[in-house]
Amino acid sequence: MTLQFYDTMAREKRAFEPADPTRVTMYVCGPTVYNYTHIGNARSAIVFDLLYRVLRHHFGEAHVVYARNFTDIDDKIIKASKETGAAIADITNKFADIYRAELQDLNALSPGFEPRATDHIPEMIELVETLIKQGAAYEGEGHVLFSIEAFDDYGRLSGVDRDEMIAGARVEVAPYKKNPADFVLWKPSKDDEPGWDAPWGRGRPGWHLECSVMIEKQLGRTIDIHCGGQDLRFPHHENEIAQSACAHQGAPLARYWLHNGFLRMGSDKMSKSIGNVVLTHELLQDWPGEVIRWALLSAHYRQPLEWTDELLRQSKRQLDRFYRLLEEIEFSDEAGAPPASIVLALDDDLNTPEAFAGLHEIRDIASQLDGEARKNAIARLRSAGRYLGFFAHRPGDWFKGAAGEGPTEMEIEALLQERANARKTRDFARSDQIRDDLAAKGIIIEDGADGARWRRE
Ligand code: AMP
Ligand code: ZN
Repeated sequence: MTLQFYDTMAREKRAFEPADPTRVTMYVCGPTVYNYTHIGNARSAIVFDLLYRVLRHHFGEAHVVYARNFTDIDDKIIKASKETGAAIADITNKFADIYRAELQDLNALSPGFEPRATDHIPEMIELVETLIKQGAAYEGEGHVLFSIEAFDDYGRLSGVDRDEMIAGARVEVAPYKKNPADFVLWKPSKDDEPGWDAPWGRGRPGWHLECSVMIEKQLGRTIDIHCGGQDLRFPHHENEIAQSACAHQGAPLARYWLHNGFLRMGSDKMSKSIGNVVLTHELLQDWPGEVIRWALLSAHYRQPLEWTDELLRQSKRQLDRFYRLLEEIEFSDEAGAPPASIVLALDDDLNTPEAFAGLHEIRDIASQLDGEARKNAIARLRSAGRYLGFFAHRPGDWFKGAAGEGPTEMEIEALLQERANARKTRDFARSDQIRDDLAAKGIIIEDGADGARWRRE
């Protein structure tokens, strides 16, 4: 089977053929960095990390160019700065660093490029000037607006009906808009707001503009794959498409569009505005990154994913079973070529449920074998898991890691020390009590010649 992805624009799965197989380009709309991100944001990053891994496998690591941006100028950032008194750059640097660290804990590879909007202001001004010259944008009261009438294909990606859109936008139409659905390319800044000098006065870019500009600068005019959450189809991606195509004589922005489904809490999308968020950095205090990654990839990326504690517990149990087997072979950082069954599952529009089923199948086979054949099957299991971004830990460390509940590694080590001291002073009652208390919490102690070792049940 060939590599194929569901393309939102075509509304069907299409065989994936890059324009240039020696330079495959992908872009993901990244976070606005003003506070901690939630696990729904992480879903998008992890799903497209998997896409990046699949592309690297097929086209070679050196031949895939991946950019994911940071939105570091935005009204929400300005508001956070006013409320906390912290400088904008301090806020955005802090949360960009935190985001990177979180994704590293989730075993995501770093994109080759992580462009920031504020590093591209001159290019954004240039793009706005081009659009004005072509009659696709106009000025009004210090604002510059994109005229959606200038782009015939406006609405094609999302299927949003133009008339409906205009009716929807009509509620509170700014007086400087010719058409209620026109969107902002540039807006004026008040004296106490950050701004840059432009031909239309001191101001700042609208959100959509940055992606069009960063894509062109980092990757090129037409890229292979553009990714993001499904909420970005309209208006964000629709607007990116219109800006870029009008500025580039109709050249399309992207050849394939991939959108991930929502992570939900109950029946609602997880979102900051609803307030039903689980923060990634808090989850990482309780659960190993691989458990969270497993949970995030357990549903197909276009399907909704219901987030529950039970999902995390199940994910932990499944990974434990794999690590039990991995304990039987010597640890190695190297991973062999992934088995065909796993590669084929992901080639079919990143079918992770099928890939996970493939992992379980290899585990079942391995556990029925003996000797060298068993070791080989376990090594195959490891290659399969590594392809998906799992099994990075030494099994011994894995079984000491956070389990979502129970005492931490530090607490356990402290109790073991106390127990060793108790034994030295022949206080066996205390020593036994510590062992029983830990056992009740699922911590197994094994006394050996070189002291006590422990693992989680
Ligand atoms: P934002 O910071 O809200 O612009 O979101 C950053 C990325 O996360 C975008 O690609 C969003 O589409 C995606 N995203 C936000 N909320 C969710 C959610 N509940 N489930 C899946 N993806 C989401
Ligand atoms: Zn974008």
